[in-house]
Amino acid sequence: MTTTIENFIGGRTVAANASEDVLNPATGTAIATAPLSDTSEVDAAVASAKQAFEAWSVTTPQDRSLAMLKIADAIEARGDEFAKLESENVGKPIEYAKEEIPAVVDCIRFFAGAVRNMEGKPAGEYMEGYTSMIRREAIGVVGQIAPWNYPLMMAAWKIGPALAAGNTIVLKPSEFTPVTSALLAEVVSEFVPDGVFNVVFGHGDPVGQHLVTHPDVAMVSLTGSVGTGKWIAKAAADSLKRVHLELGGKAPVVVFDDADVEAAIAGVQVGGYYNTGQDCTAASRVIAGPKIYDEFVSGLAEAAKALKVGDPTDAETEMGPLVSAIQRERVEGYLERKPAHAEVVTGGNEIGDAGFFLEPTVIANMKQDDEMVQREMFGPVVTVQQFESEEKAIEYANGVDYGLAASVWTRDVGRAMRAAKSLHFGAVWVNDHMPIVSEMPHGGFKQSGYGKDLSMYSLEDYTEVKHVMINNA
Ligand code: NAD
Repeated sequence: MTTTIENFIGGRTVAANASEDVLNPATGTAIATAPLSDTSEVDAAVASAKQAFEAWSVTTPQDRSLAMLKIADAIEARGDEFAKLESENVGKPIEYAKEEIPAVVDCIRFFAGAVRNMEGKPAGEYMEGYTSMIRREAIGVVGQIAPWNYPLMMAAWKIGPALAAGNTIVLKPSEFTPVTSALLAEVVSEFVPDGVFNVVFGHGDPVGQHLVTHPDVAMVSLTGSVGTGKWIAKAAADSLKRVHLELGGKAPVVVFDDADVEAAIAGVQVGGYYNTGQDCTAASRVIAGPKIYDEFVSGLAEAAKALKVGDPTDAETEMGPLVSAIQRERVEGYLERKPAHAEVVTGGNEIGDAGFFLEPTVIANMKQDDEMVQREMFGPVVTVQQFESEEKAIEYANGVDYGLAASVWTRDVGRAMRAAKSLHFGAVWVNDHMPIVSEMPHGGFKQSGYGKDLSMYSLEDYTEVKHVMINNA
């Protein structure tokens, strides 16, 4: 039996006029039907969020914080239910889906605390005879557009700061992964007034596009691909609404000759194939030193082969399918177009007849200009190339359009510090790849976008700064 998902507008579910099947990527079978909404449903959700903004935006930080702490508790209490749905809809191994729940809960709790601790310049007399003060105010109705790779976590990263700051929300999940957002609406709506949190399901065209161009939406935040980000930035320019963009990545993993090679291989085994490589910070592009290159390539191939790929409901599974047939075809397209010098060390083939599985793949002997090095593939494929000098390693690492995350592996503290400074990415890990904490910002440089998720910086992104100046005469 499949679940029927409905839009959530003004505090209640609203039956859709049209719907489509939602698939389980491990089997290719339908698990739910979700609304194929049109612009009228976006209009209704925006109107409801606009109305709710008046009262929600003037609640105290304490009130919003208390509501959010209850939301976090409720997500935690229903954690296994969320994890099961997420695993079924995205194809994540169930144990990994369960591991995401504490991070989701912590994100909401972090913003519940952060909003009571916002800081600014002190009020004072910066011009004789005048007192100046800073107010940080909610922006208005925020349209939030999420991707399919971490549907629940990306929703949490978005609604956490937006709700805490006093904004109201219209969330549009990815059309591939609507399931946990429907449950999220049910949970959140118990603790916030009607209209504060709305969810409209459907495709980028027309739902996402209408949200971006709607005159009553004051800010749009997207986590998605660079192409969608560019479309949104252009469309939003007409009304000059605020835009917050968390886009793609192509994270380099720079492994120097003095690194702990075993640790680096273990780091890429996790960072490269976690979530089937469908991660904006995936350790997808190794740049290895000349002395350890061969050892690294063979060690990584062994590590990739050792991954347990298969049924996401099995507690032992470490890697599931790609999210959709289209996504698998996209990744296979890169593999088919690979240059003659590329060496497939392991992987590259589909697995089984059902679902959208692909073997964990390692491609060595890559060159800087290769498409697979330059473009985000978003699949279980890690490329390895060799560098000649520290300078070249950094040049290769920085030589892509993206700038979301990078890692450097070395035992030399001075080299680690030099690399951390010169790597042009929003996050740099030293001797690790991927860990994220709620207190620290996550966001890109270059074509990986602008605006930060997580941390106080994100909360600030969802507020407007106002200067109030009082003539004391
Ligand atoms: P996508 O850009 O295809 O879709 C993202 C969302 O945008 C979906 O909800 C989609 O329906 C919507 N959309 C598509 N076209 C639109 C338009 N013209 N106007 C408004 N909305 C539109 O991306 P995806 O394939 O779902 O997600 C994968 C991408 O997300 C990858 O590039 C990945 O790197 C990126 N991502 C980035 C981060 C980060 O933190 N920077 C995190 C996760 C994923």
